[in-house]
Amino acid sequence: MGRLFPLTPKAPPANIASYHIFVVAYMPKQTDMQNLARSSPFSFVCGRCSSCCTNKKIQVNPYEIGRLATHCSLTTTKFIQLNTEKGVYLQRHNNGTCLFLGKDGCEVHPNRPLVCRLYPLCRYVSSDGSESFTVTELMPNCQGLVSQGGTVATFLFSQDLAPYLQAADLYLGLFTRLAEALSKEISQEGSSSLPDWVFVSPGDDPKGPFPNLLDMDQVIGKGMGRRALASSDPYKKMFFHIKAIDKWLGALKEGDHEERNKR
Ligand code: SF4
Ligand code: SF4
Repeated sequence: MGRLFPLTPKAPPANIASYHIFVVAYMPKQTDMQNLARSSPFSFVCGRCSSCCTNKKIQVNPYEIGRLATHCSLTTTKFIQLNTEKGVYLQRHNNGTCLFLGKDGCEVHPNRPLVCRLYPLCRYVSSDGSESFTVTELMPNCQGLVSQGGTVATFLFSQDLAPYLQAADLYLGLFTRLAEALSKEISQEGSSSLPDWVFVSPGDDPKGPFPNLLDMDQVIGKGMGRRALASSDPYKKMFFHIKAIDKWLGALKEGDHEERNKR
């Protein structure tokens, strides 16, 4: 089973691809329902068999981690350590089932990630910001039913996808800015000139001097102070998180070495 990601990201520069923040698009088999707009006919009724919670890499961005961490009453730092692979994928049990699949279904249902909500749709965003949707071929054991009784928009609403799609777009923008800035920095000066935290793997050394970029609580704590951390709302924290990284990127652009090494 491949990795699911509903967006079409720009490819990261090869020299920082190992940094793990970049999404890897899974190319699921498509049906003939392609290039759908929000107004296009579409509906899906889930059979609640939980088959899609097995043998699937569930990729999560910092906002999704923030929601899941709040659900589990953990900091994002602890959540990443305990429940993710490399800070990017939800852990799975040895039999391939998602860590959060319980006997009665998803144990984090109100805060389940984007891909779990969007299936069987994939969303694509082009460079001009326009979006389209594709219906993927259902997984072999899926008991869900695709029909045309509603619209893509009503499905998105029913799955409470608005904040997730906004977060996906915001983080895609941030990661693109980050990739471009770091790529330029590396090509100009060599990787040794970059602060160490740029290369810290998610989950590594959370008490170290540099935050893991994917970890909202670490980045906010070190970049924005306590005011931002006082909010337990992952949606609000997302904006502080992005602002903190953009602040560092601004310093990087202006060659403020003291500031950029603080983040
Ligand atoms: S988060 Fe929930 S819905 Fe998503 S794969 Fe895991 S158990 Fe299934
Ligand atoms: S495999 Fe299909 S029917 Fe089963 S829980 Fe997932 S979406 Fe629903």
